[in-house]
Amino acid sequence: MATTSPLTPESVAFYNALEAVNAIEPRIADAIRAELADQRESLKLIASENYASPATLLAMGNWLSDKYAEGTIGRRFYAGCHNVDTVESIAAEHAAALFGADHAYVQPHSGIDANLVAFWSVLAQRVELPALQQAEVRHVNDLSEEDWARLRRELGNQRMLGMSLDAGGHLTHGFRPNISGKMFEQASYGTDPETGLLDYDAVRETAREFRPLILVAGYSAYPRKLNFRIMREIADEVGATLMVDMAHFAGLVAGKVFTGDFDPVPHAQIVTTTTHKSLRGPRGGMVLCQQELAEHVDRGCPMVLGGPLSHAMAAKAVALAEARQPDFQTYAQRIVENAESLAEELMRRGAKLVTDGTDNHLVLIDVTNYGVTGRQAENALLDAGIVTNRNSVPRDPNGAWFTSGIRVGTPALTTRGLGPAEMGEIARLIDVVLTETQRAPARDGGLSRGKHLLDEKIAGDVARQAGDVLAGYPLYPTVNLG
Ligand code: PLP
Repeated sequence: MATTSPLTPESVAFYNALEAVNAIEPRIADAIRAELADQRESLKLIASENYASPATLLAMGNWLSDKYAEGTIGRRFYAGCHNVDTVESIAAEHAAALFGADHAYVQPHSGIDANLVAFWSVLAQRVELPALQQAEVRHVNDLSEEDWARLRRELGNQRMLGMSLDAGGHLTHGFRPNISGKMFEQASYGTDPETGLLDYDAVRETAREFRPLILVAGYSAYPRKLNFRIMREIADEVGATLMVDMAHFAGLVAGKVFTGDFDPVPHAQIVTTTTHKSLRGPRGGMVLCQQELAEHVDRGCPMVLGGPLSHAMAAKAVALAEARQPDFQTYAQRIVENAESLAEELMRRGAKLVTDGTDNHLVLIDVTNYGVTGRQAENALLDAGIVTNRNSVPRDPNGAWFTSGIRVGTPALTTRGLGPAEMGEIARLIDVVLTETQRAPARDGGLSRGKHLLDEKIAGDVARQAGDVLAGYPLYPTVNLG
C-alpha cells in the first residue's frame, strides 16, 4: 500500500485540526503528531489496543462534546438534547443489531464504567436493599476494612464469582483493590494446573458452594474462547445472573468468529464491553442486555455515570457501522489466524505458551524458560522496538508486578494489514530477543527481577528488522500531515 496524495479528506481534516490546536498550544499539537509517528514506527502487540479508523477518530473532535445530556434517549435532565438523542439512538441501534441484543446502552465512558453499570443493574433488579444507614462522612481512602464490610452488609452481603486475576480475569471482576471487590464478597475460579484451560466442572463446584448473585465470565489474558452455554447452565443452577465481560473479544463476536456456544449475547443476561480493543472503535464502553434488565441499565446515569460523552457516542456509532460491514468478518477471522500463526512459530522455536496455543486474539508466553521475568522480557522487547505488556501466568511465582508472562495480541497489526507470514517473522524476532536477554545482577549479589541485560547491537538489529516487517504496511495511509 503506497501513501496516497496529501489531499485526501483525512489528510486535510487532521492537518487543519492540528493547525488550529497549534495556534493555541503548540506543545499539544506536537505531542499528537509525535504519537502518530510512534504508532507508525512501533510493532504494536498490545492485545488490548487497536487503530480506530480516521472516520471514527474524526467523529470525536467536534461540538457534540459541548453538550450536557444526562439521562437517556428522550428523557434528559437538560434541554436541547435532540441531536444527542439522534446520535445515541443510532449508536444503540447499530450495537443491538450487530450483536443481536435485545437492548444496548452506549453511554459508559470506559469498560470499568460499563461493569459498574452492570453490577448496579443486577443489584437493582434482584436485591431488596434496606435503606442505607447514614454513615459518618469520610474520605473513601480512609475507610477501613470494617467500613467496607459494613457496606457489604448493607447490600445484603451479595456475592460475585469471577475468573481469578492470575488465570486471566480482570480487576473489576471482584478483586479487593477495585470497588467490585469492596462491594461484593468475592470468590474466583482458576484454570486447570495441567492444561491451563478453564475447567467448567470446577467452576460449577465453586458456584454450588459459593452461590453467587453474579457469575462473571470474561478475561483480559486467557488465550482461549469460553463456552457461554455451559456458564449459563451453571449460573441457572445456582440462581446467579450471568454477566459476560467481552471487552477483549468483542471484535471476534462482532465478526462472527465466536458463534453458537461461544457467542455470549444469546446466553448471558448482561454483557459488557469496551469499544476500543478488538472492536476497533473509540475509547469507551457499552452494555448489552436482555429486555428484563433494560430499565435498570438505562439508569446508568444517574446511578453511576454523569453526562454522557456525546462525541464518543458518535464515534461508537461510526465504528459499529463499520463493524456491520462484511469486511469486518474477514478482519476478525484474520485476527485469529494471525494469533495462531504467531503461537505456532513461537512454540516451534521452543517458547512455552499458556494452554499451548490460542483460539482468540492473544498469546500468553510463559517466559520462565528464557530465564527472565515478565518485566525484563517486556523491557527487552521494547528496547528492540516490539511493544508488548507483561502479564501474570497462572500460579505466577513472580506476582503481579514482575510477573512471568508476556501477553501479545494481534488486533492492531491485523488492522495494519499484516498476515500469517509476518507473524512468523515477528515470532522469530521475539524469540531472538528473549533468548539474548539476561537478568542483571542485583545489589544483594543475586539476580534482579526488574533490570535486564540485552546487547545494544542485538536490540538495534531486531528493531531494524521489526521496522522492515512494518515497511510494507503503512499505518493510516490516507493521512499525510506533510
Ligand atoms: N474489562 C476487561 C476484561 C478489560 O480487559 C478491561 C481493560 O483492560 C476493562 C474491563 C476496563 O476497560 P477500561 O480500561 O476501558 O476501563
